[in-house]
This record gives sequence, C-alpha cells and structure tokens, in this order.
Amino acid sequence: MLPTLTDARRALRTYFGYDQFRPLQEEIIARLLEGGDAIVLMPTGGGKSITFQLPALLRPGMAVVVSPLIALMKDQVEALRANGVAAAYYNSSQTGAEQAALVEDILLAEVKLLYVSPEKVVSPEFLNLLRQVKISLIAIDEAHCISQWGHDFRPEYTQLAWLRGQFPGVPVIALTATADKTTRQDIARQLDLRDPEVFVASFDRPNLSLSVLPGRNRMAQILDFLRLRPGQSGIIYCLSRKATEDIAARLRARGYAAAHYHAGMPADQRAQTQEDFINDRVPIICATIAFGMGIDKSNVRWIIHYNMPKNLEGYYQEIGRAGRDGLPSDTLLFHSYRDVLTLREFIAESGQPELAQAKLARMEEYANAQICRRRILLNYFGEPMEQDCGNCDVCQNPPQRIDGTILAQKALSALIRLREEVGMNMLVDVLRGSNRKEIREKGYDQIKTYGAGSDLSQGDWQHCMVQFLQMGLIEIAYDQGHTLRVTEAGRAVLFDGARVELVRPERTRTRRPEPQAKPLSLREAFEEGLFEALRGLRKALATQEKVPPYVVFSDATLREMCQECPLSLTAMSRISGVGTRKEARYGPAFVEAIAGYLRDFEAQGQKLPPSRTAAASYAWHLQGLGCEEIAQRRQLKATTIGGHLLKYWEAGEVLNEKVLFPTGELARIHQAMENLGARDGLRDVYDHFHESIPYYRLRLAAALTGA
Ligand code: ADP
Ligand code: ZN
Repeated sequence: MLPTLTDARRALRTYFGYDQFRPLQEEIIARLLEGGDAIVLMPTGGGKSITFQLPALLRPGMAVVVSPLIALMKDQVEALRANGVAAAYYNSSQTGAEQAALVEDILLAEVKLLYVSPEKVVSPEFLNLLRQVKISLIAIDEAHCISQWGHDFRPEYTQLAWLRGQFPGVPVIALTATADKTTRQDIARQLDLRDPEVFVASFDRPNLSLSVLPGRNRMAQILDFLRLRPGQSGIIYCLSRKATEDIAARLRARGYAAAHYHAGMPADQRAQTQEDFINDRVPIICATIAFGMGIDKSNVRWIIHYNMPKNLEGYYQEIGRAGRDGLPSDTLLFHSYRDVLTLREFIAESGQPELAQAKLARMEEYANAQICRRRILLNYFGEPMEQDCGNCDVCQNPPQRIDGTILAQKALSALIRLREEVGMNMLVDVLRGSNRKEIREKGYDQIKTYGAGSDLSQGDWQHCMVQFLQMGLIEIAYDQGHTLRVTEAGRAVLFDGARVELVRPERTRTRRPEPQAKPLSLREAFEEGLFEALRGLRKALATQEKVPPYVVFSDATLREMCQECPLSLTAMSRISGVGTRKEARYGPAFVEAIAGYLRDFEAQGQKLPPSRTAAASYAWHLQGLGCEEIAQRRQLKATTIGGHLLKYWEAGEVLNEKVLFPTGELARIHQAMENLGARDGLRDVYDHFHESIPYYRLRLAAALTGA
C-alpha cells in the first residue's frame, strides 16, 4: 500500500518527536509521496529537511541527498542517526575502507538516506552503485548553487540534470533558502524538473528580534548586551580580519570565552574554531562573513553586526543563523557613517558598482529606518506585511520627533561659511567649537557659527547629520573628498524658513529599553536553573557520544522539559523533539535530572513555585519515600503530600504501593471497603478503623485498589 499523510504524521512523532507540521511541510511531503517533483523555498530554520526525510523513510528504497557542504552533511547524518534513522554520507572525507563498508550496507538495502557531494554523485562508480538499488527520491539541497545568478554558484551542480535523466521515474525535490525569482526559474529549468510544484514559504522569522544602534562605544554596548545573555551562543560579524581578532581578544580579557574566525586562518585552526562553537565549548565567535555557511547549530541565540553588511541579502542570511530552533533570539546591528564610507570604497573597486551601490543604499535606509524594520526587510524580499511586527526596536520604542529647524539652520549656515569645503566630521567639530589644530590653522574658528552647537554631543550631531542627509538637505560630493554640499532643499531651510522635523537624538543614545535585567519570578528562577542543569547533562552526553549538544536535544526541547517537568518516560515522550529513539536513549537520564533538581531545589533552601510543589513530592516518591517521610523533609503535612501523589496517579503516573503501604494496611483497607460497600465516600471506612487511618491514606488506597 502506498504511504499516506497519516503515516507521515506518525513517523513525524516516532522519529522526530514532533506533533505538528510546520506550514507547507505537509503539502510538500504529500507531493513527494505521490511521486511528483517539487521546488521548495524556505528560510533557514524553516524546516526544509523533514520535507524530504519523511518521504525517504516512507517510500521504498534509498533516498539520495545532494548537499554541497561536507561539514553540514556530517551534521545532518548525525542528527538523523540520533533519531534512529538509517542515514549515511558518501564523500571525499572518507577512507577507502569506510566507503567499502558503506557500499555493502547500501547493497543490503540498509541505508534509507544517503548524503552525497555533487562531484561524487555524477562519478561513474557511484552511478553504477545507484543502478543496483532502488532509489526512493532525489533531494537537491542548496539548489541555488546551480544558478549563475545565485550568490554561490557551483559548476558541479550543473551536472545534476544528467543525474535526473538517469532515474526518470524518481521524484526530485530541490530546496533552497534563496528567494530571488531568477534563481528559482533557473533551478527548474536546469534540473529538468517535470512540472514541478513550487512551494514558497514565508521568509519571516518572527522569533528574531531586530535592533539597530549607532556604532559608538561599540565595545561597551556589546558588553552590556552580553551581560544579559550569559553562556548563550552568538556570532559577532566584522568587516575586517583584524577586527575579529581584536574584539575576540578584548572579550577574552573581560572573561568571555570568545574566538575569532576568518578566511586568512589556517584550515585546521578554522575547523577547530568551528568545532568548538558547535560543541558549545566556545560560545562567542567574532568572524568575517566566511563563518556560518554550513553550520547547522540550532541554538545560536544572538547575532551582532559590528559593522554594517553591504546589502540586505547578506544581512538577512547572517541574522538568519540565529534561532533556528524557533526560540526567541536577538540581533543587533551597529550603524556608523564610517562603515558606509568604507563599503562604498570597496564597492567602487568591485565588479558591478551601480547595482552594489543601490543595494548598499537600501541597507542604509534599513539601518536608519523610523518605521517597523521587519516591514522594510520583508518588503525587500517581496513579502508585504499586514501589521507592524512588535519585535523590532522601532516598534518597541517608537521615535519621538522634535522641531529641528534651528539645528538644521546652524549646520547649514556653518557649512556655507566653510565654503562647502569640509566633510561631516569637520563640520560637527566646528559646530561644537573643537580646539583641533587644523581648525585653528584654517581659521575655521573665526566663522560666526563656530561653537554654535556646543550644547549637543558629537554623537547627537552625527545623528542629526545623517538625518539631514536622508532628508536631502545636504549631500556628499563623493568625487571631492566626501565634502558636503547644501542642496536646494537645504537652502529652503536656511533662507525661506522651511521647517525640519527630526527624530529625537536621545532615543538612540539610550542603549536599549532592556539594559537592566528584571528580577526573575519564582517560576523563571526555577526554570532557568533547571535549564542550566539540563544543558549540563546534554553537554556531558554529547561529549560521550561525540556529537554536538544540539544533536542530543535542541534548546527548544530542553525549554519544554523545563516547563513540563516530565517525571516518567511516558511524560517525556510527549515533549516536542523526543522521538522513540531519544526517549529510550536519553529519556531516563533526563527524567532523573529533573527529579534530582526538584529534590535539591528545596533542600538547598530555595522556594519552589507553587505550580511545582506536587512535582517535588512525586520526585521524592520516585526515590522510594512515603508520604510521612516526604512531609518531614519538605516540612508540609502528610495529607498535602498525599494529595500531590494522587494528582500524579490521576495523570496516569505510577505510585509505589510497597512504599506507601509497607505493612498489610492496604489489604485491610481494601477488605474494609469491600465489606462496607463504601457508598458514602470514605466516612464508613474511617470509622471502621476507629479514625486511626487518616483520610489521605484511605484515598490513596482507594485509588491503588481501583475501588
Ligand atoms: P532548514 O533546513 O530549513 O534550515 P531544518 O530542517 O534544519 O531547517 O529545521 C530547523 C529546525 O526546526 C530543526 O531543529 C528541526 O528539527 C525543527 N523542525 C522542523 N520541522 C519541525 C516541526 N514540524 N515541528 C517542530 N520542529 C521542527
Ligand atoms: Zn517592527
């Protein structure tokens, strides 16, 4: 019988431990199950992998997955194996003996998913191998690599159409996170897909917060940012190799485990840094954009752009490396005028300067935005939003406007008196009455507006200048040493009294609305502590099994454990991300860790949140304690504890009879209940024993004996 969506849903639970499909996953799976071709565009972290992994598990035969990045291949295969899926990879990193063993497994039909590099897949010996087995489907990951229009063209990919020709009846799925339309059409054409159905998921990543700050005192701002995020993994992107080294060193000097990464490092050192990051040994990486491609780490919690990226495509891709697990993650972009100048110079020397300058301008607009930033981003990618997002700095701290006419007049008048011969920094210095030698030498201190703006800080003036630029009151003569000119609109302000509205500079001076960490509620404190404990266990298990921690469980799964406190394998199996394999392999250790945490929490004198008190009693019971003993330890009444345990019993958890009723009491109570019929609750039974057995014990006995 052909596999159905019901089978797919069941497999989603069994293998991956998830209860629901994400948008489009189900539709894509259905398409492959019926044997059709598909093109899938989904952002990073959208959940592309499952769309071909589930059909691969359900269809007869072996799936071939073409993937360009060897590191990523290894990661995906490890993650699949941890879920009990027979996956393997075939690439140039393997020895001859390893490959021979693999070929044997393939011929015995013991491999359900085979990851392979594009150059291997078209080799004659590999093709020969494929001809001897049944192929369930062909998945082409990072499919944009086939297009010269994409940003990551790989010549080997152009051979893949030929592969498709060799297996005409097999469904092909091409997947990419690159949205642009030209690339998409190119993929369909070049891969020779048969009437492919195109699935385009939303590119929104609502769990990523967006914020932009002026690039002043960046280090201090970064330290503030990190203080609120102890132990979290993140990447700081820099423009230059030297900056990556400097910033990492300065962070280390402050006690942070940070490393740098750039293309100029020896390959082994780069690989080591990447491994350390993936395995949570070094949480912070200062890197050029070379870092991040081919990293599948799902628990990157934040991204900082120390310098501005050169376009929104790059920016979106880089921030997209945070929060693949869907948990809230933060991004911060520093915006400085100097970075813009540097980028302009880079671009001037590059291949397509006009297009690149236009893209940089869009990037700058985004950085200077006074409306919801996500609107701008998604508009750029052709996906208009209905509402403001509520999760960007502009939404959370809407700009206040002030009358900036006088400020503008001061600046414009100074500029004219300086004969439009100066750049932005000099203009600000003159306005502020700086004592610089150059100012005195050139006689700039003699003009009438010298020092007329000394009441504003340097940074506030920069902020105003950027706005004057954007409003078109001034412009930059790029061909004349970046000196400033007053435009027509500027003259209107200066001579005709046109009014200027500015965004209040203070808004950007206060760093973030959240710099002081709020005191945690009881519940948050409990969950944070538990999260750390479970993270520690995850790390230990991962080290033992030589896989990255997120392969054991994702952060999202650990968070859910902290909220639900599963104290049995059954309860554990209901947590999202705990499939059958992981339940058996890691479940017992995590249940024990949660129970141990609950017991220790109070023993160490901390106050449990009320919602956890029953769990703590049950955790003690799991250790072989009865109601009285638990009551004594927890300094509560035995009857309260009895209530807690009953609650767990009613939720389907097991109670230990021998511990609760060590003597023959249970049998005697049961007997009495039978005899008395116990119609009016337990009153008769209570009287029967001359009030010597408390009610809570009678209730427990009733539950345990099914009376
Ligand atoms: P992509 O390849 O599109 O970047 P992945 O396939 O790696 O994304 O998925 C990103 C994360 O989302 C992974 O941790 C994955 O396990 C998780 N995920 C995928 N589908 C679901 C689902 N239906 N429910 C919950 N989590 C999911
Ligand atoms: Zn917003």
